[in-house]
Amino acid sequence: MISTKKIQMVDLKGQYEKIKDEVDAGIQNVINSTAFINGPAVKEFQAQLESYLKVKHVIPCANGTDALQIAMMALGLKPGDEVITADFTYVATAEVIGLLGLVPVLVDVYPDTFDINIEELEKAITPKTKAIVPVHLFGQCSDMERLMAVAKKHNLFVIEDVAQAIGADYTFKDGTIKKAGTIGHVGCTSFFPSKNLGCYGDGGAMYTNDSDLAQKLKMISHHGQSVQYVHDVLGCNSRLDTIQAVVLIAKLKRLDSYAEARNKVASFYDKAFANHPKLKTPKRVKNSTHVFHQYTLQLNGVDRTKLKEQLAEKGIPAMIYYPIPLHKQNAFKSDRNKDGAFPVTEKLCASVLSLPMHTELDEETLNYITKTVLELV
Ligand SMILES: *Cc1c(COP(=O)(O)O)cnc(C)c1O
Repeated sequence: MISTKKIQMVDLKGQYEKIKDEVDAGIQNVINSTAFINGPAVKEFQAQLESYLKVKHVIPCANGTDALQIAMMALGLKPGDEVITADFTYVATAEVIGLLGLVPVLVDVYPDTFDINIEELEKAITPKTKAIVPVHLFGQCSDMERLMAVAKKHNLFVIEDVAQAIGADYTFKDGTIKKAGTIGHVGCTSFFPSKNLGCYGDGGAMYTNDSDLAQKLKMISHHGQSVQYVHDVLGCNSRLDTIQAVVLIAKLKRLDSYAEARNKVASFYDKAFANHPKLKTPKRVKNSTHVFHQYTLQLNGVDRTKLKEQLAEKGIPAMIYYPIPLHKQNAFKSDRNKDGAFPVTEKLCASVLSLPMHTELDEETLNYITKTVLELV
């Protein structure tokens, strides 16, 4: 090891040191005010995020999973309705679909971008299909122009899972640029600590330009309440703590510079691993910026388990996102979800490896990581 600092997948401590004064003072203010729930910082953060995303409404909530669930409730999806999403994603995306009694319909992804395959998506549409949930996996937008066209043609809702891509820009053919999550009917994000905009606990938000939908999202996240103690629909309790809002205010200001730092790391990796026969670097698409929630390699002819162990011995963490496709999980057993049903996802789950990716990686550390990887493969 060259550096005395331990290499981490995500360095939240190093990032905190740089915003410590602001965050500490803000948290102390919240404690002094005792406005722990729905304090002024929550409204302030909401307004700042609306302006950053150029979206009419941001509705904060307790976490990204709740955001997805509340979105599906607010869109009036009913038990038995089918919701299409990607097989290659974090479980939360498909879990809430099943929890609400809706039917999660998984489809395969593209091998280069890890995003939902639009041809497969269109094939999976039935008269029962009501919504599509694209996941902007690892920080780059799905093929939203084509996806929105398919959704429009079949009259489907689009719920974007932006948990990994907050801040990414999508450019349409006509030159219009929109932030990830503001393209479909509703965007759902997570402020889990390790996400690109992470707080110091759980947090999440929904965004939409539809004012009626915003009203419903807000109502459902507050016990289905329109006026205090008047409950028009069944809702849940899903709030963002004031203390978390303070952290998010400090980090939102820096989100673009964080994305820049992540892109520098990605470029460093790209260059070091370019054209290596055993390492496939992540593809960048033309119409989306990448905010690199993860930097994910595809290994070819490499013993992944051994490589991961050898890297760990040299002080370099690496993670497998995700090791098991959703269609192979017992929780999602169905006639459709057979072994081999989604070959691209199966191949990805067997070959991906994510390297350390965060805002605090310096060149010396990156040199060490890339040199070591190249020596071991
Ligand atoms: C993190 C994540 C979620 C869930 O967010 P939580 O805040 O942990 O509930 C949903 N979808 C994706 C793709 C995620 O990465």
